[in-house]
Amino acid sequence: MPKSDNLNPLINAQKQLKEACDLLKVDSNVYELLKEPQRVIEVSIPVKMDDGKIKVFKGFRSVHNTAIGPGKGGIRFHPNVSLDEVKALSLWMTFKCGVIGIPYGGGKGGVICDPSQLSARELESLSRGYIRGIHKYIGEKQDIPAPDVNTNGQIMSWMVDEYITLSGGHANLGVITGKPVEFAGSLGRNEATGLGIAIIASKIAKEKGISIEGAKIGLQGYGNVGSFAAKHLEKMGAKIVAVKDIDEKALFDPNGISYDKLSQYKEANHKIMGFGENTQEISEEDFWKGEYDILIPAALENAISTEIAQTIHAKVIVEGANGPTTSEAEKVLIDRGIDVVPDILANSGGVLVSYFEWVQNVAGYYWTEEEVLERQHQKMSQAFDAINQLKESYQVTYRQAAFMNSVKKIADVMKLRGWY
Ligand code: NAD
Repeated sequence: MPKSDNLNPLINAQKQLKEACDLLKVDSNVYELLKEPQRVIEVSIPVKMDDGKIKVFKGFRSVHNTAIGPGKGGIRFHPNVSLDEVKALSLWMTFKCGVIGIPYGGGKGGVICDPSQLSARELESLSRGYIRGIHKYIGEKQDIPAPDVNTNGQIMSWMVDEYITLSGGHANLGVITGKPVEFAGSLGRNEATGLGIAIIASKIAKEKGISIEGAKIGLQGYGNVGSFAAKHLEKMGAKIVAVKDIDEKALFDPNGISYDKLSQYKEANHKIMGFGENTQEISEEDFWKGEYDILIPAALENAISTEIAQTIHAKVIVEGANGPTTSEAEKVLIDRGIDVVPDILANSGGVLVSYFEWVQNVAGYYWTEEEVLERQHQKMSQAFDAINQLKESYQVTYRQAAFMNSVKKIADVMKLRGWY
């Protein structure tokens, strides 16, 4: 990657925030209040490993801003987790909750670990240990974690169980979302982020005069977000013509790669390469260069560098992952006439349905799947329309418009609360 790309997500997030503050011409105190999280916790988590030795893992939890409501955001288990990454992700969560219009601030957590190297017992012990470290600072009215990369409903269940035990047996299940449906989760949560990407992709396609029926999609990352985005885009009639996961090469089929077949293959083989079924294997370089209507990076941060941005031929980019485009790469794309629909709008379906789960937990009354889906469609469509309108009236990028939308809401509440 060229040296010109800044890969520190916190610096990128702060730049995006500063730009929105400048465009809105808000009081300079607003940037001062929002540029860093309100609270960051670092914990050491001792785990007795299967070989009897103790290994101490490092974990973080950041709450960025609580002007509008409690912190909200996932927990990531990954070897590359760092304090700055967790801070940046919590900052983005504040603005994501603002864009989609839910009464939360931003939070995020992470543990430096490689879950693929842990046994189920070690993973459970680590998950419980993390909660022991942060339990005083979470709660359904304080800070509400959820799953993120490499964490799932089972891990959330262990964490809730640990939290309930530590709270003397009395705790609202809304303390953590992304729980399995059998354990007070919400119908529709598992697929919510991917479905949201598909909803936003269809909205931007319409805006650009692209028919979603037959639209060619390039997809990077075939995990929770990427695979369910593929499922719902395929349902809408789009064709997933190329998929790149962690392997060196990518799959390509101009007639579209079947979601059902590829998902079954990945489930059985833990990879997508070797899938067959008329697909060709293409290089990573050719994957990024593909002539797509919509390109969806749905893996991790900094996937699209300036170098890659110069080669992209997609008509539009819809960010599935958090922070997949570097700031410098986005400038290249915008100069080349390629719009980027930002993560804080495009992947907000996950936190939106997490909010629905929390509402159901707090009320003790559960909705049907149709109710969840209908509300998700409605909220995400409205959010896209609002950002699109702001983009047009200020003549800014989608990302600038999305940040401006949230900064304005948070700045107004901070002013009312007397924070500046
Ligand atoms: P996941 O672990 O289920 O999937 C990530 C996928 O990306 C995996 O299939 C992995 O093999 C692949 N991958 C990793 N490195 C890659 C690389 N260099 N090139 C190509 N593929 C690569 O995680 P997820 O939940 O799907 O999350 C993906 C992104 O979306 C993350 O940035 C996450 O923060 C963001 N996100 C997730 C949710 C959610 O509800 N799961 C919500 C909002 C945002």
